[in-house]
Amino acid sequence: MTDTKQSTQKGYIFKIQKYCLHDGPGIRTTIFFQGCPLKCQWCHNPESQSFADKTDKNKINQNKIGQTDTYSVSKLIYEIEKDRIFYDQSQGGVTFSGGEPLSQPDFLLDIIKECEKKAIHTCLDTSGYASLNVFKEICQKIDMVLFDLKFIDNNMHKQFTNVPLKPVLDSLKFASKNNIAVTIRIPLIPDITDTNDNINGIIFFLTSLKKFKDISLLPFHNTGEGKYETLGMKNHLKGLKPCSTTKINKIKQKFKDNGFNVTIGG
Ligand code: SF4
Repeated sequence: MTDTKQSTQKGYIFKIQKYCLHDGPGIRTTIFFQGCPLKCQWCHNPESQSFADKTDKNKINQNKIGQTDTYSVSKLIYEIEKDRIFYDQSQGGVTFSGGEPLSQPDFLLDIIKECEKKAIHTCLDTSGYASLNVFKEICQKIDMVLFDLKFIDNNMHKQFTNVPLKPVLDSLKFASKNNIAVTIRIPLIPDITDTNDNINGIIFFLTSLKKFKDISLLPFHNTGEGKYETLGMKNHLKGLKPCSTTKINKIKQKFKDNGFNVTIGG
């Protein structure tokens, strides 16, 4: 890894969103990293999935929705620091999201170190899908993790996200054993992740870890639907309707009955 004083790492970022209220505590700036090894069928940021073409051009991925930009650590910390007053007043900070931030580990580590130097709270929003060494290294520096847990069954995970479940569970077990501050985020996709089997299995697994108590349920919405058409990507879940409020509340109650603190939404 490079020392942050002279970091030469480049990050590929497709969006920077300010004044976010649902990506961790307080008011936050959310940095969306380009590239994700998963292909979740419900992804509402499909433009984030492809990995940037790592050329030296400043604008590297002009697509039909947005544009991925190349950032140095100093350029990104300059952007992040612009909203310091909001972080200070709200106990907020910066959240690294995507895409999958762990897919750009060297840049991610250097920008986290820079935030640490400047006393800016950091949060990682991740699928947990990475090599365990990468996850461990980032966990040594990050303040908290928003960990998306989608399935408890490997076949379902592979079918709907395109990757195996084991690295995800290995990351979560590591976080559990090492007292990492984690909020579990569960996307509720009708008849896919919101089934009794999946929810019961997740509750059983999390209970066995005896560590994480905070759960965010993220009900499916179809706001990303138009993007698939624009990008010419196949939308496997076209026309899928959101979960009913009754079902969401039932799942919320199930978690509460098992001793979890539950919020709905980010
Ligand atoms: S992990 Fe997130 S960014 Fe990656 S494909 Fe799934 S929903 Fe999209």
